[in-house]
Amino acid sequence: MTDIAARVAGIRDRIESAGGDPARVRLLAVTKGHGAEAVEAVVAAGVPDVGESYAQELLAKVDAVEAPVRWHFIGGLQRNKVRSIAPFVQLWQSVDRLSLAAEIARHAPGAAVLVQVNVSGQENQGGCPPERLSSLVDGCSDLGLEVRGLMAIGPQGTDAEVRAAFRRVRELADQYGLPERSMGMTGDLEAAVAEGSTLVRIGTALFGPRGSTRAVGT
Ligand SMILES: *Cc1c(COP(=O)(O)O)cnc(C)c1O
Repeated sequence: MTDIAARVAGIRDRIESAGGDPARVRLLAVTKGHGAEAVEAVVAAGVPDVGESYAQELLAKVDAVEAPVRWHFIGGLQRNKVRSIAPFVQLWQSVDRLSLAAEIARHAPGAAVLVQVNVSGQENQGGCPPERLSSLVDGCSDLGLEVRGLMAIGPQGTDAEVRAAFRRVRELADQYGLPERSMGMTGDLEAAVAEGSTLVRIGTALFGPRGSTRAVGT
């Protein structure tokens, strides 16, 4: 097995150990900070879902990568970047305000989105406050977007605090009848899976630290 394939297998083991069904919890490979070769390697290892956080970086990789990729956008997004990436993004995971949703609907009518909810109270993590979620979800639907679920970034904190935040995401998703719950990263995958994640977003555990020459997949 190549290094990346072994790491993918390792993630699936972690999902299973946390009580998740690896066939039901989707793995999103987060390639930000790594080159196009990381994307090629992870797709070759059987992971077609790839996430990027920066519009420019996504566009550079779209140009360089030949493998068939399902691109997800997971980062904070300015409205003026939407148009350039709209032809490539298959799931917009970081929709946190109506003005952004409107721009997406304009350039990618009917697009699939996740609404990012902030359950940590940590503002630098982005996301819509839970009390505004209802109007944002309705607003996205009114714009013709397909709201598939919620995305959240876990808080810094104790395991109990992290679990409680993810549980809240699940409860909110249930409340709005949304099936997809994108939660869990390298450091909090187990807590997220235990609380019902359907999609984990993993960078470091697959590719090593960002900006490091030790990054694998090259
Ligand atoms: C960078 C990033 C990830 C991946 O984080 P790791 O800790 O490297 O697994 C997941 N989700 C979002 C929103 C990110 O920005």
